[in-house]
Amino acid sequence: MQGASKAEQHFQPGETVPESGVYTVLHYQHRQQHPATIFKGDRFPQCTRCGTAVRFELARSAALISEDGDFKPSSAKVKGAP
Ligand SMILES: [Zn+2]
Repeated sequence: MQGASKAEQHFQPGETVPESGVYTVLHYQHRQQHPATIFKGDRFPQCTRCGTAVRFELARSAALISEDGDFKPSSAKVKGAP
């Protein structure tokens, strides 16, 4: 059984981005919604058209590979590379 279903949370300009991922950008009237990748720790931006009326909804979280503890910068050489 699932408990409380995950509420769709809307973020607004100026709020801190809680996690990196693809967000659905919801504009006020002038444009269809569209996806955008936004990085954790940034602040959600204003729209130049609808200003602070724009809203962001996390569509799919995707941690940066550098945030994933299973990875580290590679010093390996690609086989076949010059
Ligand atoms: Zn807009």
